[in-house]
Amino acid sequence: MKKVWIDAGHGGKDSGAVGNGLKEKDIALDVSLGVKKRLEDNYDGVQVLLTRSTDVFLELSERTKAADKAGADILVSVHCNAGGGAGGFETFRYINSQPASVALQNVLHKEIMVALKPFGVIDRGQKAKNLHMVRESKMPAVLTENLFIDVASDAAKLKRQEVIDALIEGHVQGIAKYLGLNKKEGKPVTKERDINIVSPWAEAVWKDMTDKKYFDGSRPGAPITREEMAIVLSRVINNLSHK
Ligand SMILES: [Zn+2]
Repeated sequence: MKKVWIDAGHGGKDSGAVGNGLKEKDIALDVSLGVKKRLEDNYDGVQVLLTRSTDVFLELSERTKAADKAGADILVSVHCNAGGGAGGFETFRYINSQPASVALQNVLHKEIMVALKPFGVIDRGQKAKNLHMVRESKMPAVLTENLFIDVASDAAKLKRQEVIDALIEGHVQGIAKYLGLNKKEGKPVTKERDINIVSPWAEAVWKDMTDKKYFDGSRPGAPITREEMAIVLSRVINNLSHK
């Protein structure tokens, strides 16, 4: 059984980067939870351990100590970037990293960029830096910087569920390839969602439209029937004719 440690950056009182209505800690958690679910659902012989599965604060030293203690085979720390510029995706390993960390970075970086291809994300490259998470982890460790919160074009991408899915898929593919995991047989790849919870990318518009009473606010993820569509259209037309 391979043990994968996924470290969702920040959390609790530490939001990480903030901008364009997004918080780094939330995206890091979404991606991390998605990676755990998809890896364990679709691959044999892998267990995914998380630094956090909720919005809580942990010190950096607590994170690496927990991963070391669990005897994880690899560690991936999930973050978003900030600092303006053109935005994009980049990965970090430690400056004097073991060759295994370089190998993990190579495959992870490549697979995430492949998954992001449809969305025109800039590739900022594979980098090395003296960062706690990649320095203090005993196992091969890579930190991913998943687009820029404070760059409007990147933030717009991060609000789309397809982009979050692509980030999850890229991490899953990279980890599975690095560890040589086998897909579970006879189990279809499923991407279930809870239809009662609005997707992050649609949240603002859904709130606006329900506030304006075009929709009643229930089941945001359900398909719409012709009769429901007729009701929404009549609300739109009636509203327009009153102006
Ligand atoms: Zn961060």
